[in-house]
This record gives sequence, C-alpha cells and structure tokens, in this order.
Amino acid sequence: MPLPRTRGTALRQRLAELRGPEVPAKALDARALAALAANPGCKRRAILDGAGVNKTALASALGAPSAFGQSQFALTRGNAFEAKVKADGGAALLRLVHERLDRSAEPPTEAQVPDLTAIGPEGRTARTALALREATEAQGWTLLDHPMLALDVAGSPAFLEPDAVVVHPDGSWTVVEIKSFPMLDGSADPAKVGAAARQAAVYVLALEEVAARLEPAPRVRHRVLLVCPKDFSNLPTASAVDIRKQRAVTARQLTRLTRIEDIADTLPEGACFAPDLPAADLTAAVESVPAAYAPECLSACELAFHCRDRSRADGAVTSLGRSVRAELGGLTTVEEVLAAARGEAGDPDDPAVAALRRAAELRAEALGVTACH
Ligand code: SF4
Repeated sequence: MPLPRTRGTALRQRLAELRGPEVPAKALDARALAALAANPGCKRRAILDGAGVNKTALASALGAPSAFGQSQFALTRGNAFEAKVKADGGAALLRLVHERLDRSAEPPTEAQVPDLTAIGPEGRTARTALALREATEAQGWTLLDHPMLALDVAGSPAFLEPDAVVVHPDGSWTVVEIKSFPMLDGSADPAKVGAAARQAAVYVLALEEVAARLEPAPRVRHRVLLVCPKDFSNLPTASAVDIRKQRAVTARQLTRLTRIEDIADTLPEGACFAPDLPAADLTAAVESVPAAYAPECLSACELAFHCRDRSRADGAVTSLGRSVRAELGGLTTVEEVLAAARGEAGDPDDPAVAALRRAAELRAEALGVTACH
C-alpha cells in the first residue's frame, strides 16, 4: 500500500539525507532485489538499498572494495546480444516466445512495439502500465522493450526494468530475460539459470501488481522466457523457465524485510553514507545498522568484504555459514562455542551444547588427550 503523501515525502527526504546531499539515488535492479530478498535479516543492506546508496562506491570508501559485478567487456557483449535479439521489431524474440510458450496462438507476423519513453521512473512506470492495458485489449502480439515496473520493497518503491515483456494475443503477459551466457545443446549453467529465474521472479511480482489494477486482471505467466546465445554462436535460442518456486520464495522473503522507515528511525542523528565522507565517519554510520553477514554475501553484495572483516573480528559464527549458525542455536560467537565445548559455559541440556561437548570428547579421544570437562 502506498504511503500517505506527507509520510512518503518525509521518508524520501530522510533517505536522501542518508544518501548524502547531491548524491543521485542508485536504482535498485532485480538482481539487487533478488539478493536483498535472499538475506531478509540484513537491515544494513535494506536501508542502503532503500536509500539508493551506491554500495560499490561505499565499499571503496570504506577501504574494502567489492570484487562484485560484471566487467565492462561482459556488459558490452550483453548489450550487443540484446540489440541483436530485439532487432527488426523483436521478430526473433517474438518467434521464440511463440515457439517455446504459446504454440497454439497465431504466429507473431505483426507486432506492436509501443514507445515507452516518459520523464522519470514514475512517468515511465505509468506509461508502461498504460501500454500494458492497451496491448491486452488489442488481442495481438506486443513487445514492450525495457518497460518500467514499480515494486513496494519494505515500504519504499523500487523501480525495475526487465529486458522485455511480451503481451500474447490471449492477453497474458510474459517476462523475457536476455542473457549473454551460452546455452549449449539446449541447456545453460544451472547456477546462472537459477540467478536469472530469481530476477525474473521479481519482475513477475511487479507485473502482478500492475495486472491486479486492471479489470479483468490479465494472467501473468509463471513460465518466463530465457534467451541466450546458441552454443558458441551469436544466434539467439531460448528456453521456458518455470519460476513458481522462486516467485513464492521471493514474495515471502520480501514480506519479512523490516520497513525502511523503521530502520531509518533507529539510526543516529546525522548518519550519512555519502562516499566522500571520511572513512571513520562512514564506518561509524555503516556499523550503526545491524548486518547479517554470511559467506553467501560474497557473491551477492558489494559490502561483503567489509562485513566479513567485521563479522570475523566479532567472532560471529555466521561468518562460518548460515547452516553452522543454525546448528548452534543460541551460541552466536566462536568464543561462546569453544567455551561450551570445553564445558566452561552453556546449559548442558541445550542440544547444541551437548553436541559440542560430545564432539570435544570424541576429538580428545581421537587425539589421545583428556577433554577439558
Ligand atoms: S555483505 Fe553486509 S550489508 Fe551486504 S547483505 Fe551481507 S551483511 Fe548485509
């Protein structure tokens, strides 16, 4: 539900202050949103993304530059492939949608490609919603090239730009993801397909919000089209990907995010994440927001090196992985775990403590020494 106007304006002002004067907001893309949803316990990431902070610049200013993101070469290659897929009014792309998802429909010999230009993300979102409605009523094939969608994330709107959305003659909508990794003999790297499916799930959720405002609500398809280069060529090929599971998980995780305004309210007066501030001030501001570091952050968040250093310095068991953390129950630091294993602390009836003591005994037996307790 959108915030009342005054509350929404006050929150936007507060987020702009956190970002820093004159610092433009970094749009949250589906990749970032999928990563945010994958770690809903991290308030640090939630507030930084919600305020549109450029985390790459922030990580460098903190002295822990990220090794995360696509190279310029990969970006250029990806853009060239996408332009090829969408050439000639998207003829190749629409043919693939017809072949892989909707064979019973008439072939897409003619298709509309509406102009979606408008001022600002809000304007582009409204223009996209209008184009979707008109295309649904037209009962033909329509290709929306880089539409803009909005999704409420922890009480703050995130603007998202899928590669394309196709409206079918039956009025249903399909999300299209165009990637530059190859599809060899009809299948691609499962990890990359999984990441693409999580991004597509975010777009599907945003499209469902647009569809819900129309009467009758069009069907947003839960099989998306993943378009990739075929084998080692530059020719496009595609496969339909069922994203129902990713959609359900992402929707559930997004509802678990703490509201951005609630996190903002807990920050100290004057906290600011502008990358041109002295490193000590930035560190204090970042450390004032609780994080939930796990090794998975290394492949998903620009601040991973900074958070990992802090997590290790604090002896937090999450730096060993979420599964280890889950096994250890209420023991949150390595020091507590070792003390429990030595019998110096911890409730012996706690299953985690009992398991640690047993493990310490077995280790001592194996090494031929006496356990401490
Ligand atoms: S790296 Fe830090 S800020 Fe990013 S998700 Fe992990 S804990 Fe949160």
